[in-house]
Amino acid sequence: MALDLWGERVPRPKKRRKILPLTSQAPHSITGNDCKILGHTLREWDLAGCTICIDCSVNIFCPRCITKHPQDVNALPLLCERHSESMVIA
Ligand SMILES: [Zn+2]
Ligand SMILES: [Zn+2]
Repeated sequence: MALDLWGERVPRPKKRRKILPLTSQAPHSITGNDCKILGHTLREWDLAGCTICIDCSVNIFCPRCITKHPQDVNALPLLCERHSESMVIA
């Protein structure tokens, strides 16, 4: 059977894919101003209570978890997820 029942309506398996460049969607300014305005974008906290900002790569530590950042004395004190949540509950 070479004829299909729907006449002209032959389904086309080929779909055109729109390929959007990922970079055009969210332009990242690397000036560091984003962090000051919007806040830092934190990576996952590690077990030691430290993290970094994935935008500006600044070291961040939780002052509730540890007293100071083990590597960077200029690291920013910032409450981790656990401790910021407990602040809200308390
Ligand atoms: Zn940042
Ligand atoms: Zn903490």
